[in-house]
Amino acid sequence: MSIIKLLPDSVANQIAAGEVVQRPSSVVKELLENSVDSGAKTIKLIIKDAGKTLIHVLDDGIGMNKDDLKKCFFRHTTSKIRNSKDLYSLKTMGFRGEALSSIASVSHMSIISNQDNNKSLGYEIKLEGGEEKLFNEVISLKGTSISVKNLFFNIPARRNFLKSDNVELKHIIDEFHRISLINHEINFIFINNNNELFNLSKSIFKERIIRVFGNSSKQKLIPINEETDLAKIKGYVFKPEYSRKTRSAQFFFVNDRFIKNSHLNHAVKTAFDGLIKEKLYPSYFLKINVPLNSIDVNIHPNKTEIKFDNDQSIYAILKSSIKHSLGQFNIAPTIDFENNINLNTPYSYRNKEASIPKVDYNQAFNPFDNLTKPIDLKTKDFEIINTKDFVKTDQFKNELEILKTNSFPSFQLKSKYIITKTSAGILIINQKRAHQRILYENFLKDLSNKINPVQTLLFPIKLDFNSEEIRMLKLLEAPLVHLGFKFNNFGSDNIEISGIHPFLNQKNINDLFQDFLRNKDYNQDNAVHTLNDLIAKLLSKYSSISSNENINVKLQESLVNDLFACKDPNVSPFGKLIFKLISLDEIIKIF
Ligand code: ADP
Ligand code: MG
Repeated sequence: MSIIKLLPDSVANQIAAGEVVQRPSSVVKELLENSVDSGAKTIKLIIKDAGKTLIHVLDDGIGMNKDDLKKCFFRHTTSKIRNSKDLYSLKTMGFRGEALSSIASVSHMSIISNQDNNKSLGYEIKLEGGEEKLFNEVISLKGTSISVKNLFFNIPARRNFLKSDNVELKHIIDEFHRISLINHEINFIFINNNNELFNLSKSIFKERIIRVFGNSSKQKLIPINEETDLAKIKGYVFKPEYSRKTRSAQFFFVNDRFIKNSHLNHAVKTAFDGLIKEKLYPSYFLKINVPLNSIDVNIHPNKTEIKFDNDQSIYAILKSSIKHSLGQFNIAPTIDFENNINLNTPYSYRNKEASIPKVDYNQAFNPFDNLTKPIDLKTKDFEIINTKDFVKTDQFKNELEILKTNSFPSFQLKSKYIITKTSAGILIINQKRAHQRILYENFLKDLSNKINPVQTLLFPIKLDFNSEEIRMLKLLEAPLVHLGFKFNNFGSDNIEISGIHPFLNQKNINDLFQDFLRNKDYNQDNAVHTLNDLIAKLLSKYSSISSNENINVKLQESLVNDLFACKDPNVSPFGKLIFKLISLDEIIKIF
């Protein structure tokens, strides 16, 4: 008996769905791309609960007639290619005819479409798990409206696998960025849970970047322009000093399609060599146009990877055009005084003499005085660190007593280490890490205090972010306010800070917020940090003394005392060794 059977369509579609639809953002991508392909002038995206409850895309494009509406959700039905030759001259985003069938098979889908400008009647089809449940004539404008509800309703394992709304929304916003940036001639509206996240009107590329990434991007952009027979490259990079700690602003659009390509990314990175610090990523928005027949977009079901015929040449062209533009910019840097926050003087201060900043906290307050009492901390706030390689704290209790009773014999080495002796040997302490540990435990304690001191800033600091970044930072607002931060404004594309915790150096505020964004996994289900833990860690990082700072003997003494009053004096908040004891035995062995 033959055991090989053709799979029923419903099963085949569900298998295909696994490739095409991984999460709500995949649905958003496919529906937006279909709307772009339809020639729409305006596309509206409405989602509820990060797409888990609803994803609705409306466009004013070409629409579908009755017959096409009845066909569009079958597998391999497409209006975009007819034969295999067409694959090499693709201008559309879609072509596989897999998206609608895949999405329909794992959701409740409704499509309303009207192809005729002169009639206000269109058709509606309702599907459940890919099966037609209803077909109706309805009143509709020209264009298409597709709503997808209850995604993965029939695959509970997939539904349960979805991440928190914040994480899923972040993926959707990423897709939205990719599609709205390159299709800047289309109006886009994006609404999440009745909140308008983006309202982008038709514009040139540069303006779209600024609208998506915030007004401050205007002064960051350096234009790139290169035309060769092999490729045309047009777009922008951020000036090197605005490089980010994440890859969130890296976009290649090859023939108007967002793509990922590590080889090309490497070309940009090497063009920035020597201009940006390690661990920072250049930001770029680059349109690369190559002859249609010189790429193969057919190598990945999601079509975000492509193959170039002449990889090496494109690499070289890209690298040299960016190097060239960066070079030009270096020769004639443009300083935009109007937008430089440090030079912005509030009007009421213009005619005043400079005065000493007013600080409304106890001037006699010594950060090192504060930690003599044991601190009540919950262990869950700490990362679990394997401490077996480190000396146990108990061993030091006795030594500490000796230190306390004697005058404090200590000195600094290279403005970096504090060296002191104990009866067990010589103790070498990394001063910066020690201070970070003390501050970290202190901040964690402050987070549970009722009131904390505020240091008012004479000139508020304004930081610009895009709406997605603001959304992430909003989560930090309450705990930061609790820690003594004052925000004049937490707007849609900037925040204005008028007060900070007294330990914090205002020079570091920007870096601190960039670091928050870099560590934005605090927001995810599988986050390494809890929110409070992350805040305490990063504040300790930006408030601590540096590893190149002279501190007097009195402060050295406080530092050591406070360190050993900590819950875990062995390692810094970032898991790094704080001190090392060279025991008498070891010293004896040397000789
Ligand atoms: P593909 O985009 O690869 O062709 P899809 O499954 O995404 O496959 O869509 C199938 C077909 O349905 C498309 O080829 C197109 O003809 C039609 N279609 C889908 N969405 C729209 C839309 N928003 N407007 C007009 N036609 C659409
Ligand atoms: Mg499609």
